[in-house]
Amino acid sequence: MSGVAVHLKGLRRTFGSVHALDDLDLRIAPGEFIALLGPSGCGKTTALRVLAGLEESDSGQVLVDGKDVTRLPANKRDMGMVFQAYSLFPHLTALQNVEFGLRLRGRRKAAGRAREMLDLVGLSTHANRYADQLSGGQQQRVALARALAIEPTVLLLDEPLSALDAKVRVQLRDEIRRIQTDVGTTTLFVTHDQEEALAVADRVGVMKAGRLEQLAAPAEVYLRPATAFVADFVGLSNRLPGTVDGDRIEVLGSRLPLVAPHPGGAATALVRPESVGVVPDPDGPGRVLTASFLGPTSRVTVTVGDQLVVAQVSGGELPDLTPGTAVRLELRPVPVATE
Ligand code: ATP
Repeated sequence: MSGVAVHLKGLRRTFGSVHALDDLDLRIAPGEFIALLGPSGCGKTTALRVLAGLEESDSGQVLVDGKDVTRLPANKRDMGMVFQAYSLFPHLTALQNVEFGLRLRGRRKAAGRAREMLDLVGLSTHANRYADQLSGGQQQRVALARALAIEPTVLLLDEPLSALDAKVRVQLRDEIRRIQTDVGTTTLFVTHDQEEALAVADRVGVMKAGRLEQLAAPAEVYLRPATAFVADFVGLSNRLPGTVDGDRIEVLGSRLPLVAPHPGGAATALVRPESVGVVPDPDGPGRVLTASFLGPTSRVTVTVGDQLVVAQVSGGELPDLTPGTAVRLELRPVPVATE
């Protein structure tokens, strides 16, 4: 095998005048966990549905383990799916829900396998509870057990955590990653939540208008956003006017490297708050506007002329940065995206 478990190849899909998928190309390695991240309407769900066989593409191909499944119906594609809305049968127990998919596929020893899967998701003690007697998080665990029970070639997760409250979300997100690593199933996870995507995925695909803007490891996407769109969508960025000269941009007196070549001249640099150092300096051009303690880090806003700059500083620095303090800004020389 080629080292590619899933290849979405040049997929196009339009709905009226909307290009939901616009020449989308994505290769997923065996056992890899990919998160598709992007704003509402960028085509994440459509990509997942085309891979699942629930939606047809206008053109392009879907290859799974090198085999063209583009024309194969969903039930022949051997994929496990978990959606946002709890999709369990309320009149069946947790165990029966997991067994259901197995029996549908004519698997023998369904009950034994179903118990194993409930164990895997930490719900063996709830096997005989009816679905509507389970919490949202527990229902999603059962849905995950059901999806994995059939030993799918690909696991598809479409915003499986978005209906849960914040704490359960984080717990279950970590749990999903642990289980996926255990079973080694190639996984595509769709979310609009950047923290979720960065936390769980081997690689994050950031989508915009039906295409991938960047596909890279979480740290890479965050630290070296390929485009201004990615820098803006993943994490916060200051938009600071500057001048490009060669492979650097001059911004607020600092010369920062660029993530991608720029033709030169006036440009906007996208600079992360954590890349902005704020140093008290009576001759500095900046003035602290606000300073807020946020726990692990603090947020300081500074005006330089009519430019507002947001900085993330440590709690220890805060006492010296009260509103009105004269400061200079020191930008860390990390590569920045420009537009
Ligand atoms: P969200 O996070 O809001 O679910 P998404 O990134 O998953 O967004 P898609 O659901 O894939 O986006 O939709 C992409 C675009 O295609 C949107 O503009 C959407 O309105 C449109 N679209 C998707 N499905 C259909 C459909 N069945 N009929 C008409 N338009 C559709």
